Amino acid sequence: MPGRVLVVDDVLPNVKLLEAKLSAEYFDVITAMNGVDALRLATQESPDIILLDIMMPAMDGFEVCRRLKQDGKTQHIPVVMVTALSDASDRVKGLEAGADDFLTKPVNDTALFARVRSLVRLKTMMDEWRMREQTSHDLGVMLQPEQAVEVDTSGAAILIIEDNPIDIANIEDILRGDAQRVDIEISIAKGLARAISGEYDLIITSLGLNDGDALRLCSQLRAQDRTRQVPILLVGEDDQIPKIAKGLDLGVNDYLIKPIDRNELLARARTQIRRRRYQDRLRENYEQSLSLALTDSLTGLYNRRYLFSHLKGLTTRSGDAKKAMSILLMDLDHFKRVNDTYGHAVGDDVLREIATRIMGNVRNFDLVARLGGEEFVVVMPDADREIALRVAERLRRKIADAPFNRMDKVGETLDLSVSIGIADNADTSSDPTELLRRADQALYQAKNGGRNCVKLYDQSTEVVDSNTTRFLNSAT
Ligand code: GH3
Ligand code: MG
Ligand code: MG
Repeated sequence: MPGRVLVVDDVLPNVKLLEAKLSAEYFDVITAMNGVDALRLATQESPDIILLDIMMPAMDGFEVCRRLKQDGKTQHIPVVMVTALSDASDRVKGLEAGADDFLTKPVNDTALFARVRSLVRLKTMMDEWRMREQTSHDLGVMLQPEQAVEVDTSGAAILIIEDNPIDIANIEDILRGDAQRVDIEISIAKGLARAISGEYDLIITSLGLNDGDALRLCSQLRAQDRTRQVPILLVGEDDQIPKIAKGLDLGVNDYLIKPIDRNELLARARTQIRRRRYQDRLRENYEQSLSLALTDSLTGLYNRRYLFSHLKGLTTRSGDAKKAMSILLMDLDHFKRVNDTYGHAVGDDVLREIATRIMGNVRNFDLVARLGGEEFVVVMPDADREIALRVAERLRRKIADAPFNRMDKVGETLDLSVSIGIADNADTSSDPTELLRRADQALYQAKNGGRNCVKLYDQSTEVVDSNTTRFLNSAT
């Protein structure tokens, strides 16, 4: 899965060295020797990761990093600072500028490749979410496109799986002020169980666990649906870099080398929590936009768009299997009067109550949709016209027999009725438009027959009317 790496360093041999190492691992490498070029290439070439030297004349690495993270076009590109400095305060300064990690010169190959691979993987996943979001937005179904935004990290829940009491006390003390909840488990089995049963923003574990292999724990956390997306921060010793690298390949998100530096732990924990929350938000936005695209916001029923695509699949399936299916098309009687008399808000409230009554009186595999305005459709798989008639009659009574509460005046009610047309697939092709057209014909008969009644489609009484062609182009 190698990706494109931008290497930034003002010393030519350093650039060449990293370029050679990465090219040998099949990464596509581009290079820059100063901050200005780095910023330009980051925008133009959209690399998957940037390896950034800190000490450069004119614009140093911290400043380049800050600018990359402030620009909506480049802020999603992971940045690894490559530095001769090993001072913890510089690491913290880098993390605060938005850097995702540090590598110390001379660069250790194992650490380099593991780090680059894991960050490229992360970026690929985030890109996928952003792309889906863009698609929903382009389709016009995303209400609030995600902006480049600050994500809050307060009130996080953190799980520590560690058996060394000194390390536990230390980590807990550092994180307590930041997190709402810090939970501790001292065995792998309990830690895993707790991670699965809880909702954590971050899991911190250590390579030094006595009762088993922390890497196995990490891979189990990655294998479970409930914990797959929870970031893992691994704590290890200086000489455990190969193991840490393996952890990163297994899906560990970040690591810390002991002794634990307070600010570094805080910065790394915050980065992981921020990422997790950002990702959750993208996903929620996406799911929400999908449901907005397919459901009606007033009643929560499926919308016209969903109805047509569902009906198409269902008529084909029922036709192939020679199974009965019926649809009911319902239109409220004189609904305009409700709006005119009591106002639109009362009308809306009545529509919601109608939806509730319909939903409460059909089988749970029947599909109820709001076709628009005051028209509803019930699609009933496995139901012939006899069953459909019974259901329609029941729905008609549920609406006509019990008055509707008026939300504008507590205790007052209004009466309403509905006309229903039924069509089944007994002698139609598997064409959803034709089925709806027939139901509409029957509905027309019901309205003509005095309203508050149910009519079955009958070919001999077909009426040609401009209204009867209204479904022909509506499969949108
Ligand atoms: P009929 O018995 O012939 O169906 O009479 P009707 O008044 O129900 O029929 P018509 O189609 O003329 O009017 C439908 C009315 O439904 C028009 C509009 O005021 C109302 N309506 C449509 N959509 C909504 C909505 O989302 N909210 C509210 N409150 N009213 C709506
Ligand atoms: Mg109408
Ligand atoms: Mg009506």
